[in-house]
Amino acid sequence: MTTLEIRDLIVVVDKTQILNGVSLTVCSGEVHAVMGPNGAGKSTLSAAIMGKPGYTVTSGSVTLDGVDILALPTWQRAIAGLHLIMQYPTEIPGVMLEQAMAAAFDTRGKNTSELSRLIEVEAARIGFDPALVNRSVNVDFSGGEKKRSETLQLSVLQPKIAVIDELDSGLDIDALKDCAQRIEDATRENNLGVLVITHYSRLFEQLKPDFVHILTNGRIVKSAGPELADELEVTGYAQYTN
Ligand code: ADP
Ligand code: MG
Repeated sequence: MTTLEIRDLIVVVDKTQILNGVSLTVCSGEVHAVMGPNGAGKSTLSAAIMGKPGYTVTSGSVTLDGVDILALPTWQRAIAGLHLIMQYPTEIPGVMLEQAMAAAFDTRGKNTSELSRLIEVEAARIGFDPALVNRSVNVDFSGGEKKRSETLQLSVLQPKIAVIDELDSGLDIDALKDCAQRIEDATRENNLGVLVITHYSRLFEQLKPDFVHILTNGRIVKSAGPELADELEVTGYAQYTN
């Protein structure tokens, strides 16, 4: 059982305070959806959790099973069990996708002899063309291939907690279903805890939230069960943004 605990997080970007005290706790097996309008600070939250340069935490804490992850460089946060799927996955020319996963396996002390077989099985589950693992990470991948590639990395590396930023950006409905379903499966098969960021509820058809939080103006203004997402589909965010 793993717990990611975010407490009173204040984050400054480029001298502007973007997050104004965010608190959220994600445990193994739980899916927490953070929903909110554009510019609310959703991607900033994901960047701060994973340690993206330029995102300065000025107060508050983020711990994983009590360990202060803000004190760690990004790669050690990943080894500790955190995994981020970015809204716009980064292209890494010259680094082959399979090599990247092999290096990640190695650093985690896992045996790489099983990796190719695992990639084959996982690629088939999400409809990812396995030939792409011999190409540079995300370079010239389509939108759907990028998100499938990121989902493949998640399913192969089996993190404890995943932060998923707008899985639905830039991919078609079939790819969204494949990726969202694979992540939902991981919550049951590996007890993965998920913090999923979105402003549409369509991905909840596969990836079922246990909790829904509304983030506006750098604050969580309401938390409830999955029914809150249904309500938002009807009402929008207007009543929460004033
Ligand atoms: P969301 O993901 O909810 O749409 P973001 O976290 O991307 O929102 O952005 C929140 C606010 O922070 C926006 O006003 C955005 O312009 C600003 N912001 C985010 N990243 C940066 C950055 N690197 N430099 C300057 N401003 C930023
Ligand atoms: Mg965003």
